[in-house]
Amino acid sequence: MNTCKLIDGKAAAARVLKQVQADVLRLKADGIEPALAVILLGEDPASQVYVRNKILRAEEAGIRSLEYRLGADTSQGRLLELISTLNNDRAVNGILLQLPLPAHIEETRALQAIAPGKDVDGFHSENVGGLSQGRNVLTPCTPSGCMQLLEDACGDLSGKHAVVIGRSNIVGKPMAALLLKAHCSVTVVHSRSVDAKALCRLADIVIAAVGRPRMIDASWLKPGAVVIDVGINRIQEHGRSRLVGDVDLDSALPQVSAITPVPGGVGPMTIAFLMKNTVTAAVQQAHAQRSPSEATCLSIS
Ligand code: NDP
Repeated sequence: MNTCKLIDGKAAAARVLKQVQADVLRLKADGIEPALAVILLGEDPASQVYVRNKILRAEEAGIRSLEYRLGADTSQGRLLELISTLNNDRAVNGILLQLPLPAHIEETRALQAIAPGKDVDGFHSENVGGLSQGRNVLTPCTPSGCMQLLEDACGDLSGKHAVVIGRSNIVGKPMAALLLKAHCSVTVVHSRSVDAKALCRLADIVIAAVGRPRMIDASWLKPGAVVIDVGINRIQEHGRSRLVGDVDLDSALPQVSAITPVPGGVGPMTIAFLMKNTVTAAVQQAHAQRSPSEATCLSIS
């Protein structure tokens, strides 16, 4: 396998986290201690692992974390009450509501209850709208991480043709908006697209966010394309359980100029950008609370 074409997401995430750590130190010296509140409802095993990892990364970065583990039968009213308390708590900078939520909770209502300035997942409609207008708002972590990987691999993205496969609210749509903001020409394909493969073969950049194991092989890719594989799919193979992406890595590798592996590609960047968003939120809140002269020294990389 030609491993030099593999984009190392773990190393890229470590660089982001190192920068976050340095920013946190500078903010603490200025009397600001960034804090992230994580809310988990129920005991979904995958969500528990995600939350544990988020808390661990926060601690490593020097970010104070507050965990709210609530029962799966928590009422919507109780959840909204907690979100409201955290919105009004000046010591909390970011609020993350771990998805998926139990069926009796209205997901949109709960996400909309989070104050946009503390919405470190970037899912509030005010942040979604701001992103589509090209404003600097808190943006979803996975697409933000993909952009960093692309910029590291390609440099200036201006004028490149990017095809995003998938149009979900958490990956596909914000990804397309970020690529557009970086001056790419963007095509979004989905399950109703006619000949998605032919459209994809025209792309300089392919972002696969489908959730179908190894759906995209070399026949989907232009020679020299850069591929970011967002998919995380658990499959059984040779009697073992393993994680694979939406891209067939062995088939794609000879065709591409760079590609993210699964695992070890996009995954680590998602948590790193959650930490970055928490620090950004802390700085923005401090700016809003302080007088202009007090706030001038507050900046992050
Ligand atoms: P969704 O299921 O919400 O969206 C999947 C998208 O793929 C939909 O827009 C769907 O189209 C499209 N699609 C399905 N089949 C096809 C097809 N045959 N051809 C073209 N498009 C198709 O998934 P998510 O966006 O939430 O996640 C996508 C993948 O990314 C999953 O594997 C998920 O686990 C992973 N993921 C990874 C993260 C990370 O940190 N690395 C974070 C988030 C997600 P339509 O809209 O028409 O139904």
